[in-house]
Amino acid sequence: TSEDKKEHIQEFKLDPDSELRFEVESKGEKAYVTLKSGLAEIFGTELVKGKQYEFLAGAKVAVFTWKGCCLELKGKTDVTYVAKETPMVIYCNCHAALELMRIEAERENKKGPITLVVGPCDVGKSTLCQILLNYAVRMGRRPLFVDLDVGQGQISIPGTIGALLIERPASLDEGFSQEAPLVYQYGHKTPSTNSTLFSMVANQLACVVKERLESNKKTKASGVIINTCGWIKGGGYKQLINHAKSFEVDVILVLDQERLYNELVRDLPSFVKIVFIPKSGGVVERSKNSRSEARDQRIREYFYGTPKNPLYPHTFELKLSDVKIFKIGAPPLPDSCLPLGMKAEDHLTKIVPITPNAAILHHILAVSYAKKEEDDLLLSHVAGFVCVTNIDMERQTLSVLSPQPKPLPNNILLLSEFQFMDSH
Ligand code: ADP
Repeated sequence: TSEDKKEHIQEFKLDPDSELRFEVESKGEKAYVTLKSGLAEIFGTELVKGKQYEFLAGAKVAVFTWKGCCLELKGKTDVTYVAKETPMVIYCNCHAALELMRIEAERENKKGPITLVVGPCDVGKSTLCQILLNYAVRMGRRPLFVDLDVGQGQISIPGTIGALLIERPASLDEGFSQEAPLVYQYGHKTPSTNSTLFSMVANQLACVVKERLESNKKTKASGVIINTCGWIKGGGYKQLINHAKSFEVDVILVLDQERLYNELVRDLPSFVKIVFIPKSGGVVERSKNSRSEARDQRIREYFYGTPKNPLYPHTFELKLSDVKIFKIGAPPLPDSCLPLGMKAEDHLTKIVPITPNAAILHHILAVSYAKKEEDDLLLSHVAGFVCVTNIDMERQTLSVLSPQPKPLPNNILLLSEFQFMDSH
């Protein structure tokens, strides 16, 4: 109707310490925010006055102001309201405490704070990491961001974990700049699918992160912010304890769950500072469906970029004889069938060569940096990803979608559980 087509413009005057929250729900809809006066930020990234920011379907946004501001919101948004109760003062105090530790680290040429952010699903862990990183970099720090949340894969694509040096605040369109991320392939949606493999890959990332810290003085003093996934019970809790040890964590920020806070206080040495912090009332719970859509979107963006910054991937053929494809983890054998001296868990990290067949169609393959499959395939980081778009058994070829033209940087490829249907 003509009513729907009319540009919907709303103006909001925000008091100090409040935020405008809105969601863009419907497919194809867009919303635009402009800062008219005052100062405002979105998850720690400052808005430029007069600049129009665009938000696409799926966006869940809070525009926060410390000092008060006036905002214009254009387009069709859902659940739009101003909240006066936010935990931003607490988050800012966390940042201030980390900053004190960085100042001390700088003075004594020691490592800055290694901070682990934990909590159940949908409590704002990724958002808190983003806020803390943005505040750090706005103070001139150069922290490392480590993402262990394989389900979302913020640094690369879902199924991976990785580390990224943060040198400037996240852009509101593209997030943190993805220059030279360090990425490890795990290949599944949740750490529980193969927790033995997940620990191994996470421990390897921890080793390399420690090396990186030592190689750059500024980053060393700035420290690390580590995001985790929402699996916090049973095996998930064990993973958190493992991360605390392998990354030599100094601070743990526990979002929303007092039980988890108490367990960590009980089980970790007292030199680890454990802090309970409330979640924001604005954090939106995501359905299974929207999570899986977000994962798809992430992979699509890896190949095709965003509307503002499109990428043009390549499709080419590879001879099956020129590539070696592996998967990690073999089906378990019953104990009685195991060779002498082999543990039942060993199959979980077994490197299994794959004869290409129709079953790998649409699957993501990680291009490994490993030189020899036997030794270092599990512990090598990856150059990037391709997607299998066709298999021709007669001609013995494989077609792939790739961000880079031929040739691939390596012929050792690792199969991922993730699939991507290329609809372009
Ligand atoms: P987690 O990492 O714990 O799963 P996220 O940080 O990804 O949670 O937050 C879930 C969603 O809630 C994200 O889409 C995020 O943009 C949104 N969100 C976070 N904080 C707020 C807030 N204060 N107001 C509105 N939306 C928010």
